Amino acid sequence: MTERKRLKGRGELRDKPQRTRTRQTTRSPELVAAKSNAWGHLPIAEPRDVRRAATRLIRADSKAFTATLALNSLAAIVGLAGPWLVGRIIDEVRAGHGVTAVDKLALAILMAAAAQLLLARWARYVGHRFGERTLARVREEFVDRTLALPANVVERAGAGDLTARGTADVALVGTTLRDIGPELLINSVQALFLLVALVTLDPLLGLCGVLGFGGIWWALRWYLRRARDGYLAEGAATSEVAEILAATATGARTVEALRLEQRRVAASRDALETSRRTRFHTLFLRTVFFPAVEVSYVVPVATVLLLGGVLLEQGALSLGSVVAAALYLQRLSEPLDEILMRVEQLQSSGASFARVEGLARAPQATDTGSPTPADDRIDVTGVRYAYDRGGEVLSDVDLTVRPGERLAVVGPSGAGKTTLSRLLAGVDAPTAGSVTVGGVPVVALGPEQLRRQVVLVTQEHHVFLGTVRDNLRIAEPSATDEELWTALTAVGADAWVRRLPDGLDTALGDGGCRTDGSQAQQLALARVVLADPHTLILDEATALLDPTTARHTERALAAVLQGRTVIAIAHRLHTAHDADRVAVMENGRLTELGTHDDLVAADGAYAALWRSWHGERPASPGTA
Ligand code: ADP
Repeated sequence: MTERKRLKGRGELRDKPQRTRTRQTTRSPELVAAKSNAWGHLPIAEPRDVRRAATRLIRADSKAFTATLALNSLAAIVGLAGPWLVGRIIDEVRAGHGVTAVDKLALAILMAAAAQLLLARWARYVGHRFGERTLARVREEFVDRTLALPANVVERAGAGDLTARGTADVALVGTTLRDIGPELLINSVQALFLLVALVTLDPLLGLCGVLGFGGIWWALRWYLRRARDGYLAEGAATSEVAEILAATATGARTVEALRLEQRRVAASRDALETSRRTRFHTLFLRTVFFPAVEVSYVVPVATVLLLGGVLLEQGALSLGSVVAAALYLQRLSEPLDEILMRVEQLQSSGASFARVEGLARAPQATDTGSPTPADDRIDVTGVRYAYDRGGEVLSDVDLTVRPGERLAVVGPSGAGKTTLSRLLAGVDAPTAGSVTVGGVPVVALGPEQLRRQVVLVTQEHHVFLGTVRDNLRIAEPSATDEELWTALTAVGADAWVRRLPDGLDTALGDGGCRTDGSQAQQLALARVVLADPHTLILDEATALLDPTTARHTERALAAVLQGRTVIAIAHRLHTAHDADRVAVMENGRLTELGTHDDLVAADGAYAALWRSWHGERPASPGTA
């Protein structure tokens, strides 16, 4: 094994930046699982599930897999002919036979080599096609599972984890399927056949050869037992260095202002020292392992030559057989080398596969078993809520929203309005108490059911990569063009969509037609019209828009609100003024509830808000 090949196999030659990243993302399942509990990370698949998933993937394309295996076996069998024929040539020469016999055997060697080359190429081709198809399957499954994740699971896990799994981890699984897996298969088959041929040639010589390889077994055991922890520590140390450097660079001004330079330099030095130590440790492991393996390759060949010599003396074996056996053993070092390297790579890609497959264990949002609400009434009863890391942000909230009612929720920033809207929309479940629609908990509804009941409209509007039609059909996959146009007309977007080069078929997003803020919002609202929920929750839907866009959007919004229950998190008090009822939130509690006039008359918190807004900005809508 050349040094470069070996180091590449170990991921030590950093000419591919991806490997460096991979080291950090392929943490041990245990480590990540432990972390996952503390931070709400996505789950990691158990080794049992990983094995099951691998078997399922092989079964899904079993024909190609069997063909790869068969072709590899054929190539390996044909490959066995070479050393045996060399042995025959030696025996022929010793027996004093003519050049013709030798020529024939030499020609047979040439043909066997050509046949092996062709078969091996074919096997590789079939193997790589199998790998690519299987990778496509893994990617598709990953996307399906990601899209089926409930929003709160993604929020808790953080988009970073999901992105790392979908990119670096899937890429590493891809490398395994495309290269490592087929290579491992090819070399295992070759090694197996070489061993069988060796034992068949002469059982005693074969046994000696196999025993001679015992050294590799011990070296491998020694190495694998230490390598895992060693590389995990190295990966963690590398992450730590990156983290400290990034934190220092991002907070450079704070560091300078508080004169923390020396402390940051010391922290970086410590991290670098740890990193150096961990790297030296893994280097030590390699400097023991690889020479041990190298020596182990020589031992069986030497043993067979020595023993063969003795047997030859006694006339128990021909010289040809001894040479053939030595050649087989010599050849065996090549597949074994590859196997050792690939097995080690398989360890890290196994961890990646566990992360990719882990999504199967995450909760999925499905409509199966989703209950059906009796009516459109929304009840909030004794609701308390606390985020994972923090105190209670909602306490004892009771509220009933009647169908068709317009309710404005007002209050100072941080009062819990957004949190309440998330509970009403079923994004999160209350820590205590219940939020129900038609007597059914909102969080128990499947995505399809929920979309028909309650929709949360926020300031974040996405235009997805795809056509206008794709963007709209997300809300109602079976919608006809006519229904799409009706929805677009309702939000006032029909005119500009008609002007697009391909109408509903115009591609939007990067590389396609660009949409401005108000157009993106109109598309989002058209989706709401298509989903046709009875209740809309507006969370500061127009608060961050410039006045012109806001006017456009509000007009579109008015059309969407028609005939629905509306709960508006109001940052503009005129929304509260126009609402049927106003709910005031302060410090996570619902402190006032009534009509605008009643609350102004009661002279409480709302009346104060109203007076200050009215006093400051009598002519235009203000901000609460
Ligand atoms: P409002 O919408 O009235 O401004 P929020 O519902 O956004 O209030 O916030 C209520 C409280 O919950 C605040 O103290 C806020 O800091 C806290 N909070 C909001 N989101 C989170 C979160 N994801 N994790 C932890 N605390 C949060």
